[in-house]
Amino acid sequence: MNEQLLADEARYVMQTYKRAPVEFVRGEGALLFDSEGREYIDFLGGISVTSVGHCHPAVVNAIREQSGQLQHVSNLFYTAPMVELARRLSESSLGGKVFFCNSGTEANECAIKIARKAARARGVENSEIISFEGDFHGRSYGSLSATPGLSKNPDFAPMLPGFSSVPFDDAAALREAVNDDTAAVLIEPIQGEAGVFPLSDETLVAAREACDKSGALLIFDEVQTGVGRTGSLWAFEQGPVRPDVITTAKALGGGVAVGACIGNSQTGEILAAGDHGSTFAGGPVAASAALAVLDLVDDPAMLRRIRALGDRLTEGLASIEQVVEVRGRGLMIGMRLADGIVSSEVNSALLENGLVANAPRPDSLRLLPPFVLTDEQADHAVTVIADVLAGYHPVESK
Ligand code: PLP
Repeated sequence: MNEQLLADEARYVMQTYKRAPVEFVRGEGALLFDSEGREYIDFLGGISVTSVGHCHPAVVNAIREQSGQLQHVSNLFYTAPMVELARRLSESSLGGKVFFCNSGTEANECAIKIARKAARARGVENSEIISFEGDFHGRSYGSLSATPGLSKNPDFAPMLPGFSSVPFDDAAALREAVNDDTAAVLIEPIQGEAGVFPLSDETLVAAREACDKSGALLIFDEVQTGVGRTGSLWAFEQGPVRPDVITTAKALGGGVAVGACIGNSQTGEILAAGDHGSTFAGGPVAASAALAVLDLVDDPAMLRRIRALGDRLTEGLASIEQVVEVRGRGLMIGMRLADGIVSSEVNSALLENGLVANAPRPDSLRLLPPFVLTDEQADHAVTVIADVLAGYHPVESK
């Protein structure tokens, strides 16, 4: 590892991340290459971003062509890629209007504003937004206030008023919490940062019914689950209910920063001129990259392939003695390790053995591989995980 790079990072970059001691210099498909020429299979995808693989030729071409033609003019003018992207996002999901932004956090910020304005229109002055414990919605003050695990950190108090949470997947608690003052239920259909925990159908139905009864909006944060990750373009398509608003980012740009908040025929009409904005949002380069990603992912054959790869990996991982649970859907996979095995140690060993993964909680690893993974790469990854875990002796039986 380049000592000067380590020293400069420590000297000049705010130390908000713990980085693994690897410098990546190139990516191609499901593979990453470090500065010492070592090859890795990427089972993290930049945290669910590079879902069509690193440097997919269609995404590279779209960025190249658009950046040679027009990069930015602001939202004070019309640009075709942005309008076309809005059409594709709307028609593939809730059918309403779209607001563009540059990240998942900002997409949720927009959804929160929509919810509060809609509540005010119903005559509710101090409305509340309810999430589940363990949810992650972002790092700005609105989305942070809706992230129960982080919002209690006194270093950043005070949080915004009007946010509360109920225990994860507790349908009864959610029904009880939602009332006439509720602006929205803002939830992840499958919690990602918490370690891959899907909500039950019962809870999703309870959320829909409670919102319908009170007039609150049901908002799905699909920042991690969206754009094919679970084997359908949007995770909500595989569940029993339709949300009123969805938010997306991460995989949408294939590696370029872009986010969107998508409404239905009613929620897409709530924000008016001057209510919200963002200088870079929906810019031609990001929108062109996202259109190239949607061309690849919004395709039944690709979505079938994601489900098949997910099944293949789940079966392989479940057969490893030290893996006691495999959770998730499609290529969003969490695996719990047997008692006494520390996931961060395993994760470091995997990296040393050429597999990039992630340890979101002490007992679990998270896998978010790209959709362009070959069967051989999938099987090889399972073998690497099994070989690394063979060095650990479970103290818990299955
Ligand atoms: N929502 C969910 C479900 C996420 O997983 C994340 C990021 O991990 C975010 C929101 C925040 O997205 P961003 O980091 O792009 O602001």
